Amino acid sequence: MPSSGEVHKRRLAAVARGVSSVLPAYVESAAGGSVRDVDGREWIDFASGIAVTSVGNSAPRVVEAVREQLERFTHTCFMVAPYESYVSVCEQLIALTPGSFEKRAALFNSGAEAVENAVKIARHATGRPAVVVFDHAYHGRTNLTMALTAKAMPYKHRFGPFAPEIYRVPMSYPLRDGGLSGPDAAIRAIDTIEKQVGGANVAALVIEPIQGEGGFVVPAPGFLSALAAWARGAGAVFVADEIQTGFCRTGSWFASEHEGIEPDLVTTAKGMGGGLPIAGVVGRAELMDAVHAGGLGGTYGGNPLACAAALAAVETMRELDLAAAARTLEGQVLPALSDLAARDPGIAEARGRGAMLALEFVRPGTLDPDPVRTAAVARACHDAGLLILTCGTYGNVLRLLPPLVIGPADVARGLDIIRTAVARP
Ligand code: PMP
Repeated sequence: MPSSGEVHKRRLAAVARGVSSVLPAYVESAAGGSVRDVDGREWIDFASGIAVTSVGNSAPRVVEAVREQLERFTHTCFMVAPYESYVSVCEQLIALTPGSFEKRAALFNSGAEAVENAVKIARHATGRPAVVVFDHAYHGRTNLTMALTAKAMPYKHRFGPFAPEIYRVPMSYPLRDGGLSGPDAAIRAIDTIEKQVGGANVAALVIEPIQGEGGFVVPAPGFLSALAAWARGAGAVFVADEIQTGFCRTGSWFASEHEGIEPDLVTTAKGMGGGLPIAGVVGRAELMDAVHAGGLGGTYGGNPLACAAALAAVETMRELDLAAAARTLEGQVLPALSDLAARDPGIAEARGRGAMLALEFVRPGTLDPDPVRTAAVARACHDAGLLILTCGTYGNVLRLLPPLVIGPADVARGLDIIRTAVARP
């Protein structure tokens, strides 16, 4: 097998520069809590391929289910010749998402595609144009979802013009909004919507219950429920983008549950597929079924291999109770991160829920973001054998997204590496 250095050289001449990688190393194999490169170097995995491999890499049930499917048939297109596993995945989405009302679901390939379709459905069902999104939001890289995404660099820079009728309003960001309560932050957002958009024009309000790429921002309690209540009153569709937070990541099947929210529509992807590309939109039957036959779909959406993987991933999550595993991880990791934050004036806050945890770096004594130190800490972690990511509008958040099946010893070793990296001058 060629070395990482050799492959990297070929990559520079073959792969577009716009597609970048965190590690300069090329993967040979990966398991429950680790990634190994072709040179035999190993990293503890606190990234999960950006919150995807919650059940671990090559999880036994997923491998078995995909192999079995691979041998029966690989693709017929659900829109041409349908198959049971697509229906089963939709049934699982209906059963697992909050809300006991009648639901329908549809499957897609990526998170961005799911978000696009949620917006299509909401616009079609309401006959309204406007979509409300939030500061620090991330919803994808397609033209519509770039417009929904907040951060210019690297996601939007010189990629416009963007889709119209997107309106951005203030988020609840407890560290950075002066401790505004959830209900007060919701009033601020709703005020902006009513004055600048008009409630009657709003097709959908799209929000991540805990923001992912934007910085693992956990809104103050009461923010989401107040927005959901407003949306209900205004006849707007409340869409929870649970692409990063869903499927046990935050310690429950969906993060909306922590706030007692029953979204009209939920978008899912990432952890759902156990490593294979699959996404979904699930929600109120009257909204989903408002769309005419043939109005939703795509060649690969709910591909049989991805459906087999998703069913096996859900079974694994149930069998191993990975929601409880995420809560256990929070119990092991968050106190350690809080301890670091308490002792380091350059760390403003440790926060997060379940196995979606973060440290936000600032210049000591201020709330000025410190992306340079954040990047240095992440790099020191990589050098010491821990695969970890950064995020945040200001690039100053170190985020932890371990597979939910990671062992406590790997977690402890990972935390030691973070402590050492943070302690460096
Ligand atoms: N929404 C959220 C909340 C996400 O975290 C992401 C991916 N980071 C997306 C949408 C887009 O998903 P994908 O990359 O699969 O298109």
